[in-house]
Formats: sequence, structure tokens, C-alpha cells
Amino acid sequence: MEFVRSIPELRAAVRSARSHGKTIGLVPTMGAMHEGHYSLMRRARLECGFVVVSLFVNPTQFGPNEDLSRYPRDLEGDAAGSAREGVDMLFIPTTDEVYPANHKTSVAVSGLTERLCGRSRPSHFQGVTTVVAKLFGMAQPDRAYFGEKDYQQLQVIRRMTRDLDIPVEVIGCPIVRESDGVAMSSRNRYLSAHDRVAARVLSRSLAGARQRFAAGERSVEALVNPVRAEISGATGVALDYAELLDASELSEIDRVVAPAVLAVAAKVGPARLIDNTVLDPTTGA
Ligand code: AMP
Repeated sequence: MEFVRSIPELRAAVRSARSHGKTIGLVPTMGAMHEGHYSLMRRARLECGFVVVSLFVNPTQFGPNEDLSRYPRDLEGDAAGSAREGVDMLFIPTTDEVYPANHKTSVAVSGLTERLCGRSRPSHFQGVTTVVAKLFGMAQPDRAYFGEKDYQQLQVIRRMTRDLDIPVEVIGCPIVRESDGVAMSSRNRYLSAHDRVAARVLSRSLAGARQRFAAGERSVEALVNPVRAEISGATGVALDYAELLDASELSEIDRVVAPAVLAVAAKVGPARLIDNTVLDPTTGA
């Protein structure tokens, strides 16, 4: 596995791989990697001849009072893990490489970014879409891999790619969970043993909603209210939101008659955690 820090080096490697007929796959990450990240790399490895993983803790997607300065970093572990997954290139740009002093452009997607995390983190998605558009420009991948764990992010990136006619196939990959159901996240590293147990309430409440859905419940209120109650009632957990929305537009619905996403966010100890599940009335699951 090769390490590169500059955009010209990345471009040269990508150009060479493409000239050898290879498909380019990109997996954008902020590091502190876990099985969720590795699942994306594995999928990219299966589908692409040249796999680039980017590791960049993007400052523009953090709000002023968020965890940018203490975001977990583990370059050694990340490099070893990426190499183990057969990644060809780890792209680790500096902040100056990504945002030179005179940069003036950002990318924003409206509508889809207004609810859920967009409400509690007002500038977050503009930071995400800007950096992802830039990474697409830097690496010029054929395919890019994102986790459904960050469901809203995935939908926003899909829309940006479509609306800006960016020739990248955006591929969503399933949520990877710990054995107790907790969705893997770099931010789980912030949790004490006690917080870690408390964090189970997110996936447990979603599983409860899935059961009610499988039993035929289609009313949004009847599906979401118990999720809100369960998370709000948990000690050491502060609910941010629990919402059931149309799965692709992220718009409000009253009943689940088309695929819908049940998304939750909560502060557990020092960490803001998110989780979601998609409810599909065509399969009842
Ligand atoms: P991050 O480093 O947190 O920005 O995540 C990098 C990529 O990994 C994003 O596309 C995430 O959605 C994805 N990801 C993070 N956690 C998981 C998970 N538990 N399962 C699947 N994908 C994940």
C-alpha cells in the first residue's frame, strides 16, 4: 500500500491505474477505523481494480462547539487495517492541501439537509458535500463507497452527485454493528463502559420499531413515539431526534406506504451517536 499526501501524486497514481484499464474506487474516511470502514474497503476491493482510501478529518463539517480537536486519531492502526484489506493507496492530505488559504467555493444541497442532523448541526452537511465534491475531483473515482450508518449523508451525497452531473457511482453499504447491536462508530471510543451499555438503547429502540412494523403497524406516530420514549427514558442518554421520514426525500409522512427511514440521534455521555433503520412496506421488513 502506498501513502500519498499531495493531490498531484494521487492524480498521477490514479491516471496510471486507469491507463492500465483499472476501475477506480474511493472510500472517504475520517480515520479511527473500525469494521464499518473495513466493510466499505472490502466491497471496493471486490469491485475495483484500484482502491483509494482517503483519511481526512474534515474541519468544515464540525460545528464550533463540536469534537474536532479531540476527534480520535490512530494513523498507525488505520494504515495497518487498510493494508490488511488490500487497499492500494492511502491518501492523507493536510488541511492546507484540501483548503488552501484562498479557497472560496463550497457546495450545498438544500431540502435534504434541513432535517435530522442538519437541524442540530447547521453547517455540517455543507462541509460534507464540499469535501466529498473535492475528493471526487481529486481522485476522480468511478465508484465511491459510503455507509448507510450515515443515512442522511448518503442521500445528500447521492443527490449532489446527480445534481452536479458528477460521473461517480455512489454505493451505499449496510450498517456494521457490534454483537450487542450498537452501530460501529469512531465516536464509540469516547464511551465509558457505562456509556457503552447505555448506548444500546438506540439500536434496541429501532429493533422494537422494526417488530411493530413487521406486525403490520404503519402509523408513523405509533412507530416513532415508543422510540422517543425509550431513548428519552434511558439514564445518561439525551435524545436529539427520532424521526420516521420518506427514505429518499427525507420528507415528513403520516403512514409508511413507501420505503421510510427511522433515524435517531442522541448524546450518550460525551458522544453524539446516530443510528437508523429502513422500513420497507413492499417487503414488510
Ligand atoms: P467516518 O470516518 O465516520 O466519516 O466514516 C467513513 C465512512 O464509513 C462513511 O461512509 C460512514 O458512513 C462509514 N461508516 C461508519 N460507520 C459505519 C458502520 N458502522 N457501518 C457501515 N459504514 C460505516
